Amino acid sequence: MRMSGASELAEQLRAVAGDERVLAAIASLPREHFVPDRERHRAYENVALPIACEQTISQPLVIARMLALLELRPDDRVLDVGTGSGYHAALLAMLAGHVWTVERHPRLSAQAQRTIAALGLSNVEFVVGDGCRGLPARAPFDAINVAAATGEALPPALERQLAAQGRLVAPVGTADQHLVLVRRTAEGFERKQLEAVRFVPLVRAEPET
Ligand code: SAH
Repeated sequence: MRMSGASELAEQLRAVAGDERVLAAIASLPREHFVPDRERHRAYENVALPIACEQTISQPLVIARMLALLELRPDDRVLDVGTGSGYHAALLAMLAGHVWTVERHPRLSAQAQRTIAALGLSNVEFVVGDGCRGLPARAPFDAINVAAATGEALPPALERQLAAQGRLVAPVGTADQHLVLVRRTAEGFERKQLEAVRFVPLVRAEPET
């Protein structure tokens, strides 16, 4: 039987991203639905691709790594910052219980909402706004995924919205970025700096006056 593009992509990632639940989710999600028509021929390559509003859909390998680091359980409540195309949010939704995804560009949020609805995923809620503030009304979250580079420090509001034992993964830095994994423990926060990555910047809104 000929494999679909999505399962070929998952097979390419298998050597480097070992988490079976994550690979199964990638194998069953058509990435071509999340990229613009002119990029469709490259949808199953392990590369970041341009989407609208000068943003990018992240590289599948990095998404697989971030999903594995979050150690998602089927009933987890997840905050996703930087909806973009919605691809990462859709994978989170397949691995967890409920996802709130925040995007600053209304056009990207609306398009992602249409894509995800057409795939029949009903456990994602879309919010247009500044993800640096998290989503206090829905906190606490078991997992927080940040899909844009935070600059030198993580926005403190995000860590505060983690549940006990909650995990957060984010690219931290500007020119020189690394994935950072944060776990909330009884004593406070455990932070680990991991591999180098390259993400578009998280754009902070002006502080509220
Ligand atoms: N997860 C996406 C890729 C995200 S690219 C996917 O799977 O396609 C990063 C996204 O973060 C961009 O869409 C950008 O507009 C958004 N973004 C940047 N700063 C933001 C902010 N402060 N709040 C919410 N979204 C933001």
